[in-house]
Amino acid sequence: MEPCGYGAFMSVFRGLQLSIQQAVMLAVATAVIGPLLLLWPLDQAITRQTQEPLLEQSRRASLLLTAATLVEPLWSIDETATARVAREALEEPAVLGLRLIENRPDAKPLLFMREGAELQGSIVLHTELLREGERLGRLEMHFDPAQIDRLLTERLQSSLLMAAAQTLFGLTVLTWVLYRRLAKPIGKLMQQASGLATRGQQGRVSWGRRDELGELGTHLNAVHDQIDTLFEQLQTQKTEIEQVALYDALTGLPNRTLFAELARSAVASARRDGSQLALLFVDLDRFKAVNDAFGHPGGDHLLRELATRLQASLREADVVCRHSGDEFLVLLHGVRGREVVAATADRLLQALEAPVDIDGREAVITASIGIAIFPDDAADHETLVRHADTAMYVAKRLGRDRHSFFREEFDELLKATQALEHELEVALAQDQFELHYQPQVGAADGITAGCEALIRWRHPERGLVPPGSFISAAEQCGLIADIGAWTLRTACRQIAAWKAAGVPFGSVAVNVSALEFRSRRLLDTLASAMAEHGVQAHELELEITESVLMTDTDSAQRILSRLRELHMPLAVDDFGTGYSSLAYLKNLRPSKLKIDRSFVRHIEDDPDDRVIVQAIVSLAHSLGIRVVAEGVETEGQRAFLRDIGCELIQGYLVSRPQPAADAARFMCGAREPEDAVA
Ligand code: C2E
Ligand code: MG
Ligand code: MG
Repeated sequence: MEPCGYGAFMSVFRGLQLSIQQAVMLAVATAVIGPLLLLWPLDQAITRQTQEPLLEQSRRASLLLTAATLVEPLWSIDETATARVAREALEEPAVLGLRLIENRPDAKPLLFMREGAELQGSIVLHTELLREGERLGRLEMHFDPAQIDRLLTERLQSSLLMAAAQTLFGLTVLTWVLYRRLAKPIGKLMQQASGLATRGQQGRVSWGRRDELGELGTHLNAVHDQIDTLFEQLQTQKTEIEQVALYDALTGLPNRTLFAELARSAVASARRDGSQLALLFVDLDRFKAVNDAFGHPGGDHLLRELATRLQASLREADVVCRHSGDEFLVLLHGVRGREVVAATADRLLQALEAPVDIDGREAVITASIGIAIFPDDAADHETLVRHADTAMYVAKRLGRDRHSFFREEFDELLKATQALEHELEVALAQDQFELHYQPQVGAADGITAGCEALIRWRHPERGLVPPGSFISAAEQCGLIADIGAWTLRTACRQIAAWKAAGVPFGSVAVNVSALEFRSRRLLDTLASAMAEHGVQAHELELEITESVLMTDTDSAQRILSRLRELHMPLAVDDFGTGYSSLAYLKNLRPSKLKIDRSFVRHIEDDPDDRVIVQAIVSLAHSLGIRVVAEGVETEGQRAFLRDIGCELIQGYLVSRPQPAADAARFMCGAREPEDAVA
């Protein structure tokens, strides 16, 4: 729609884009000149109305005066005086001319005119010239008709002059006032606001004035102060957020996010200048045991201390970060050869191994380090970390407390292990495990004294899998606790079943992994399984390896002492392959000691083994511990063991580990010693 009227005016006005100052000036000028233009025609009409009678009077007065002055010269017929009077009358601007008509018979009418004047259209006034009642003649006076217009023009000019002077003065005063009170403070406000907007120096301005703009400026100052405070708070929060987002709260080391950034740029610059990088994946060995023994605050203290040691053992250019829990990543720049990296890794291992004081007690921890090299092993940061992780995993498998460089085949190995771990979970869920039982009989009489429960995995494709193929994987992935619990419950159920069937099983020995000694769960499972199936302590035996005895953690020691309190028979398995610590044997006082198969295997032809086995037997006897020889396969071995006083034997000579039903048949049928050994 076409803009019209007010709308059109406003759109034009807006289109002008005037500043406030210009708009005010325009308004003032309009306010002064507008009324002038409006009132001018009115003023003209009024003036004309009021002036017209006055002019008329003045013309008449001029006529009468001239007539009175002419009487004398006319009467005396003095032509010179008559002309002079006429000229004097013409001096008046309104008079254009005058005509004199004398009454004398021969006198001609006299005409006096202003030079260049035009009598046509003039205003004519006339009067009789009388002297003492005698008529001397007649006077006609011609007056200028434009006199009123001239008067009006003059008045207009003076009015305009006045208006101009007034406007000029008004504008000057207004401009000054506007400048002082409006334009200047607005300029200052604008400066202040733009200072605020750009966070510049001008954000805060001092305001002495108390008017509205001064108040506005003071408010802006308050806003400025508030924004300043907010900015400071934001800055602090930003720093805190950055700290939280990029640094590990516990150790203060860069976290994995920041490390990834640094590592990526390190990879990029190493790629540019053809240098080498080494990424070390450091994982603490058995950190959980520290947490168990010293509690989480103790574990935290250890992590902080180790983080400091790692940093102290590296060059400034190298980066170390806490990857997660007990894992650290180290990035070595500009490495020259694997030997140097290996030496650095060993230095780190050494630094970590030094005892850490936790509340007056010493904690010793080792670590396993996996190493991947850029560009040999990986082309980017993510793959470097993954490969270093794989290498670390291998270092763990190789026995921990060591470093291991990544090799291509590790990836396959890791995948296979992970697949196995997954399969183990499935096996547990689908009840694919079963226990086989191997009897322990008297070396001399062949009477069954007990049996050992040995786990088997009935794999849907691979058939019966022996424990050697999966126990260590289960230990690595933590599934051993669940498998151990399953074994204990199954063994207890079997004991109850055999008891009910009257099978003379003696006692059932269950193998317990050293890792199960890390948590109280073992005790809970044991108690609930025994209670559920009504198993007595003497009907069960726990086989533990020497490593459990050597474990210095609080939880292992607490569990062992609790087992002693419960009079739970303990057997030390595979004796001789570990530390063979006599001090621990003395403290633990197990009921049985099992000589490892590796010593028994050659006793018939290796005098050294014979001496060792004999020593173990007499040592155990001197401490009141019974001895079981494992892996007895021949009659010769049995005879030797019997002769040196070894009480019990376990091995293929007697029976292979068998399913429960077969084992029960054996135990029921082997009451006669001769049958059993034959
Ligand atoms: P171990 O406790 O020392 O068990 C004895 C191992 O020697 C068994 O192997 C048994 O089959 C084998 N053996 C017995 N007599 C002979 C013999 O005359 N000749 C030979 N060559 N071997 C004999 P298995 O069943 O393969 O178990 C291997 C290891 O797996 C066990 O050694 C034990 O440490 C572990 N294990 C077995 N079952 C469990 C379990 O339920 N839990 C835990 N944590 N470990 C278990
Ligand atoms: Mg065993
Ligand atoms: Mg053994």
